[in-house]
Amino acid sequence: MMRTLRPVAATALLLLLAVFLLPMLLLGSTEKEEAPEESGPLPAATLPIQKPTAQSGAGGDGATLIRVAMPDGTVTSLTMAEYLWRVVAAEMPASFEEEALRAQAVTARTYTLYQMSIGQNPNHPDADMCTDISCCQAYISPEDAAANWGEQAELWGEKIARAVSDTDGQAILYEGQPIDAVFFSSAAGRTLDSVEVWGGSVPYLASVESPEGEEVPNYHTTVTVPVEEFKTVFLTQHPDADLSGAPETWFQNVVPTSTGGVDTVEVGGVTVKGTALRTMFDLRSASFSVTADDTAVTFSVTGYGHGVGMSQYGANAMAKAGSTWQEILTHYYTGVTIGPWSQG
Ligand SMILES: [Zn+2]
Repeated sequence: MMRTLRPVAATALLLLLAVFLLPMLLLGSTEKEEAPEESGPLPAATLPIQKPTAQSGAGGDGATLIRVAMPDGTVTSLTMAEYLWRVVAAEMPASFEEEALRAQAVTARTYTLYQMSIGQNPNHPDADMCTDISCCQAYISPEDAAANWGEQAELWGEKIARAVSDTDGQAILYEGQPIDAVFFSSAAGRTLDSVEVWGGSVPYLASVESPEGEEVPNYHTTVTVPVEEFKTVFLTQHPDADLSGAPETWFQNVVPTSTGGVDTVEVGGVTVKGTALRTMFDLRSASFSVTADDTAVTFSVTGYGHGVGMSQYGANAMAKAGSTWQEILTHYYTGVTIGPWSQG
């Protein structure tokens, strides 16, 4: 069975769980579709406030060149404006609200500036960014985007170009420097604090409310893992776990995240992170509940992504409700300012 934890009810529920050792978890929340650090902790050395080393290309997007490592191994040089068009087109549905697309453009620009500020990426030492979402950000060529968009191609291509040009040179800043502007697809009511997902506290990546809901495609998903398969996968990584008893007894002592997701849970006596189970069983987020019976372990999942930073569907919901792109960004990133990135 699945339960949805509300923050207000979290404490009471936690007590209930502790008392009854319910073999299930609850959940809560939420990934930047392209978080490179999706499955690992944020290295402390990347904390931007400790490394104010970014240098600007004065003159806005047109004057900043980005070297992009392409899938075929070549490196293509694009202006920031050209690069951002390709990223935004790949990262967010072009049908989204204009203000959401502007917020996405600024987030992608800021993320790029941040990546460039922290030094060479060992995955592609000859390029600033790549097209692999597990490393940098998503990317699509104008030709491929047009093919996907069909008869909307011209309209949507121009819409994305406007989102980039309307925010030319604008970045999300914390203490004057571009932030690690991670983002993800959809949250289960709130975003997560970075410390809950990656173990490193970042002041501007705190947990905040996120307004998207049932209108998100595949907002609720279910993953059913046969008992024997669960045992095989889990024991490979945690050979000390005792999964000899009834599956109903495997899951104990759920500790929820601040948003009601699974922070940690004991599985066969071994404490694991909810994010680890997410990776192990390819769940769309760590906002899940889990039940087990004699035949299968079932995860009921809400939202999509790692849950830290800006929610794309949340941004679209805010835009529909009248928020500007600046309001969206200052909502999702705590204590930041928006401004031209021009100190060099
Ligand atoms: Zn990369």
